[in-house]
Amino acid sequence: MCTDTSHSHRKLFTKSDLVNQHLAHLSNLRWNSIRNSNICTLQILMVPSSASMHTLDSTFVRDQLALRACPLNEVRLQPEGEYVLYWMQSTMRFEENWALRFATLEADRVGKPLVIYQGLNPHYEHANDRTHTMIVGNAVELGRRADALGYTYLFHLRTTVAGDNRVVDRLATRASLVVTDAFPTAGVDSRSARVAARIGCRMMAVDSHGVIAAAAFQKEEFAARTIRPKIAKLRDFSLEPVRDQPPRLSVSNSLRASLELDALVLDALDVAAAVASCEIDHTVAAVVDRAPGLTAARAQLSAFCADTLSDYSTRRNAPADSAGSSRLSPYLHYGQISAAEVARTARETGAPAEVEKFFDELLTWRELSLNFCTRNRKFATLDGLPNWVRANMARHAADPREHVYDLATFEAAATHHPLWNAAQRELMATGSIHNVMRMYWGKYIVLWSASYEEALRIMITLNNKYALDGRDPNSYGGIQWCLGKFDRPWQRRPVLGTIRYMSIDLAYKKFDARTYERRWS
Ligand SMILES: Cc1cc2nc3c(=O)[nH]c(=O)nc-3n(C[C@H](O)[C@H](O)[C@H](O)COP(=O)(O)OP(=O)(O)OC[C@H]3O[C@@H](n4cnc5c(N)ncnc54)[C@H](O)[C@@H]3O)c2cc1C
Repeated sequence: MCTDTSHSHRKLFTKSDLVNQHLAHLSNLRWNSIRNSNICTLQILMVPSSASMHTLDSTFVRDQLALRACPLNEVRLQPEGEYVLYWMQSTMRFEENWALRFATLEADRVGKPLVIYQGLNPHYEHANDRTHTMIVGNAVELGRRADALGYTYLFHLRTTVAGDNRVVDRLATRASLVVTDAFPTAGVDSRSARVAARIGCRMMAVDSHGVIAAAAFQKEEFAARTIRPKIAKLRDFSLEPVRDQPPRLSVSNSLRASLELDALVLDALDVAAAVASCEIDHTVAAVVDRAPGLTAARAQLSAFCADTLSDYSTRRNAPADSAGSSRLSPYLHYGQISAAEVARTARETGAPAEVEKFFDELLTWRELSLNFCTRNRKFATLDGLPNWVRANMARHAADPREHVYDLATFEAAATHHPLWNAAQRELMATGSIHNVMRMYWGKYIVLWSASYEEALRIMITLNNKYALDGRDPNSYGGIQWCLGKFDRPWQRRPVLGTIRYMSIDLAYKKFDARTYERRWS
């Protein structure tokens, strides 16, 4: 994320003064002759008319990229390089992918082809069948669609920890420029920084996660109420659609062969067998009813808009209703569908009041978590919490806990409380917990752990190990919310002090907890 505001400023947007105020602080990107070329209209669920879409060489795209793209090293672009490399990490899609847009424009500008590379290692934290299946399965779909869209996409699966670990470095030695995704969690930004420090060409990180460029929010936001009005001003503008296009030059067969990359033949790939061959944790099983990829995400989005969106504000609060929300968070986490496409589709199909409620989750809370993890590098520790929470914790740290469980007991869903255990079982079986139950799940880990530090560690471990949407900015936003982040002080009680309390026993009066409990007993 570009946070350096010392560059010479220039006016970015002519669209409105409002937008100017927010965005005029960042750009020093210099764009030379960006050439237009054959235009390939990519299929999106709600295809806006061509005339209403910005082209890749438009001012709109250039100004978005001025906010979203940030250099990771000081090395110059290598004009003698053979290609531009887009190292796909967290935005696992071709559509509405700002990093891919940036790489395409740069490839055209310097007259090189574009190589899209994605690699999967076996040793990232909590690598298991569940997460690997989402990534490998999505790669198969990307591989099948790449040719038709005019992209060269290569996917390398490193099955053993001892396997080839320098693929990006090797590809970078022949590149003019490396472009990658900006993403504050799941180790992406730190991995990119390490690579950028050792390669011999320029490397840029581009943020595609939010509907609104994360750099548009210049400081850490304290609460939903502080970010909401800012989002409201930027939202419609940020949702304006762009017509993507492939790079002008394609990768020749000889260049492709010379890369000597042990890329998987995706067309013929048996995903389960490929995942089984990896040195990862095979005890966390893939979720069979969650197909990876854009096609599955769009099917889920269509079903949500057709069947649920009209009653979203009420159904979302009923844990017994497993179809009461979009269930899109895994697809959004892996960047397999863009939040902008989800938002536009909902806006086209839903009643305004319900769409607003949905936007409050998809935009307000999601962008708030992204802002938190982007602007506060202590997001995974208690130091990431506001002062009032830490003072409160100091006062209540020694309060006796009614129950104290360790990680193993929580993980085994073996607490005394059937409703809490049901939530943990849902997580283990499906890779998600109903949103309402997720709050109880977190709050009671805080109440039943030996310390706040231990509670945070347990929540992060279980969430990121089992949840399909884990290791996301939302993971840390949601978990830290249970410890008071984004909230205000409430009535004082044991252990939590003034952190908001939720009574799990009263949950039975608030919603049909028995049905939920039975389902996951
Ligand atoms: C303890 C705890 C842990 C959480 N861990 C995660 C996590 O690992 N990954 C994750 O994506 N979300 C997490 N959340 C937030 C929220 O629970 C999920 O995003 C939501 O339940 C996903 O279901 P859905 O896709 O059906 O949401 P919908 O209700 O359909 O909402 C649409 C989208 O909006 C976003 N969203 C919804 N609620 C929130 C929220 N409270 N905060 C931020 N964004 C939100 C998500 O991207 C979601 O897919 C956590 C919340 C808590 C309390």
